[in-house]
Amino acid sequence: GLPPYDTTNIFARILKGEIPCRKVLETEHALAFHDIAPQAPTHILIIPKGSYVSASDFSTQASAEEVAGLWRAVAEVAKPLEATGYRIICNMGMDSGQEVPHFHVHVLGGRPLGVMVA
Ligand code: 5GP
Repeated sequence: GLPPYDTTNIFARILKGEIPCRKVLETEHALAFHDIAPQAPTHILIIPKGSYVSASDFSTQASAEEVAGLWRAVAEVAKPLEATGYRIICNMGMDSGQEVPHFHVHVLGGRPLGVMVA
């Protein structure tokens, strides 16, 4: 299974302001910033401010306000892409290649993304 939350992970450090990010949006419950290695013209990460490793942890442990806050931030960030479309991805655990053990939502768009292969 997934490890317990590591308070020194890179997104925790971004939340604490120890590491800079290109901020897109900040709300009470969420922070959105540009991915450092974008896979599409728009590649934004949206993270909850609370400490959750995975989508499952977030979905089962966060309050209703945090869950709504996160997904409303995703919607806000994705709004400029609505005309052309976009993709939302959440990686969870080893087989997904999840790199950063703080739950995050990828929003990708700005080009045809192709058929999702895996
Ligand atoms: P994962 O594979 O965990 O779903 O995705 C982690 C994402 O975080 C990757 O797309 C990677 O480029 C991005 N990333 C890793 N370190 C940093 C960082 O220090 N700053 C930013 N803005 N993005 C990062």
